[in-house]
Amino acid sequence: MTLSRRTLMQAAGAGLFSQSVLAQNRASTNVVIIGGGFAGATAAKYLKRFNPRLSITLIEPNDAFIMCPMSNRVITGSMNIRDITRAYSAFTTKYGIKWIHAAADTIDPDKRQVRVGKDVVSYDKLIVAPGIDFNYDAIGGMGNAAAQLAIPHAWKAGEQTRRLKDQLYAMPPGGVIAMHIPKVPYRCPPGPYERASLLANF
Ligand SMILES: Cc1cc2nc3c(=O)[nH]c(=O)nc-3n(C[C@H](O)[C@H](O)[C@H](O)COP(=O)(O)OP(=O)(O)OC[C@H]3O[C@@H](n4cnc5c(N)ncnc54)[C@H](O)[C@@H]3O)c2cc1C
Repeated sequence: MTLSRRTLMQAAGAGLFSQSVLAQNRASTNVVIIGGGFAGATAAKYLKRFNPRLSITLIEPNDAFIMCPMSNRVITGSMNIRDITRAYSAFTTKYGIKWIHAAADTIDPDKRQVRVGKDVVSYDKLIVAPGIDFNYDAIGGMGNAAAQLAIPHAWKAGEQTRRLKDQLYAMPPGGVIAMHIPKVPYRCPPGPYERASLLANF
């Protein structure tokens, strides 16, 4: 068998879901996905394509997905934030995915339920893909909201990206940028070096 991107993805999906969900023809099979980043949105799209009978519900609080890849180019002005932004409404409509526009609060694995505010969402299979978050308290002085806005990390694309770009553009000639590379493991090993190179070029 020739291993195409599609067959590879199907094999990976089938392995993850141990034949159960992908092979099932029951219209009632509910897959709930928490988080619509690359991980959650890709799972939603391909599960639906491989088995259109599945009911897929994506729980994601943001209006749009803003990609981290290429966000460094937004900071230095060679791309616009619109270029790396995709609306969840268009994505979910295109692929027939239900979208709950809110954050998941708790998971009850015994009852197979996710609580979202006052609502309860039942699932047969659950994918948990909320990404990472920041532990600001690990760095002295970064615990308060004002410091987090004044010193943007821009490792999460969106408002942080805009802030760092604004600061860069407001710098006087000869201004100094201090940058610290996170300790491994972090989610994009080349990201800081790419950023340093683009800043130097800017
Ligand atoms: C500057 C930079 C450049 C990068 N470049 C590349 C690259 O070139 N190539 C590459 O492969 N990777 C790159 N990466 C890494 C890549 O962006 C991440 O690995 C990827 O975004 C992780 O995807 P994810 O879906 O796991 O998490 P995320 O993208 O963080 O998505 C998680 C989603 O879950 C949602 N969520 C969180 N909590 C909840 C909740 N309680 N309920 C519901 N939803 C929730 C969030 O709103 C978010 O939309 C880069 C990263 C950075 C910072």
